[in-house]
Amino acid sequence: MSVKRVTVLGATGSIGESTLSVISQHPERFKVYALTAHRNLDRLFELCRLYTPEYAVLAEQVDVSDFSARLDTAGIRTQVLCGMESLEAVASSQDVDVVVAAIVGAAGLAPTLAAVHAGKRVLLANKEALVMTGRLFMDAVHASGAELLPIDSEHNAIYQCLPMSAQRLANGTKLSECGVRRVLLTASGGPFRDFSASQLAEVTPAQACKHPNWSMGQKISVDSATLMNKGLELIEACWLFDISPEFVDVHIHPESIIHSMVEYSDGSIISQMGNPDMRTPIAYGLSWPDRIDSGVASLDLFKVSRLNFSPPDRDRFPCLALAESAFASGGTAPAILNAANEVAVAAFLRQEIGFMQIPEVIQHCLSIVEINAAQSLDEVLAADKMARKQAFSWIENCR
Ligand code: NAD
Ligand code: MG
Repeated sequence: MSVKRVTVLGATGSIGESTLSVISQHPERFKVYALTAHRNLDRLFELCRLYTPEYAVLAEQVDVSDFSARLDTAGIRTQVLCGMESLEAVASSQDVDVVVAAIVGAAGLAPTLAAVHAGKRVLLANKEALVMTGRLFMDAVHASGAELLPIDSEHNAIYQCLPMSAQRLANGTKLSECGVRRVLLTASGGPFRDFSASQLAEVTPAQACKHPNWSMGQKISVDSATLMNKGLELIEACWLFDISPEFVDVHIHPESIIHSMVEYSDGSIISQMGNPDMRTPIAYGLSWPDRIDSGVASLDLFKVSRLNFSPPDRDRFPCLALAESAFASGGTAPAILNAANEVAVAAFLRQEIGFMQIPEVIQHCLSIVEINAAQSLDEVLAADKMARKQAFSWIENCR
């Protein structure tokens, strides 16, 4: 067995740390090649001490001499790089086998695409990159022969429930030809699942970031609370598995035990279950088609005993319907939705807007920014830029 060299984009985040936890259990299988981070230098230093990667990359174009000297003094032989080109370089280097795309938001797009173009095994957590570029992304997977493995828990669950013939994504296999009738996409419903509209108007960032089942970064925690996360995931599922939204049934499942299901034409429903811990899908992505230990405790299913389901409420949580309608509009609409959401969530976290203004910002941007066909990356990036501009000015005007 040859040792796989891994680049972790967004190593200091929640997914990055979970990935390193799995990797550390299998030194005979994996070696860390590069780790990247945005601002958390102390954590990156500690990760370099623990994993001695070849490269540590700071996302912004900054003076790296202090950080380099700090590593040097500690006897850590990791080379420090910075800026977008370096992120792309460590994602596409011929010395890398596996790239974990765990940067949050549109900032992860370029290095994730670089890994795809270089034909790597790409473990995709950064759903925003796929939502933005959709067809371009999947065409690039097809053209390069990259091995795309979804590690978003729901998509990983769906993937695990598919026959092997459908597990080479972007190879033209239609799920309906594999006997698949429907995909059942589950959602926890977030911390405000049972809140009334008037309660929702008053919620704080601290409440929104306290997810009942999962421990995650701030942005995805807010997305889970608005149900935008499920909207992004619906779009993600449609692109990954080449299916239409009508093929996907979104349901709230507050226990987060069933991570999603696939229904077949003979009436069978296959689900993937487990404790809500991202190390399970990450371990699967790292070792596929084999299985390795992830460090996740056994699920005591009989103790759980009750599993609940209910349909999502699109009136109280308008972000889900906004995502559905952006996907139906097609072209650059999902990129506009995503950019507006990123700006709105950041403003909510800074307490500049209320929770229920997040969908208002998105709706405004979708109605005002021109939607194009998204035939090139430049078109997508232009839509992203314009949506951010409109979102910022909406927020500025309401203050
Ligand atoms: P996080 O906020 O914990 O970590 C984000 C990482 O991205 C950090 O390492 C940070 O340094 C880096 N980063 C942030 N801004 C950056 C920028 N401008 N340029 C370069 N790097 C930057 O986020 P997370 O919860 O780990 O989520 C990461 C991605 O995985 C998101 O796309 C999220 O939707 C997806 N995801 C997360 C979970 C989860 O359980 N956390 C589950 C499914 C999918
Ligand atoms: Mg998910």
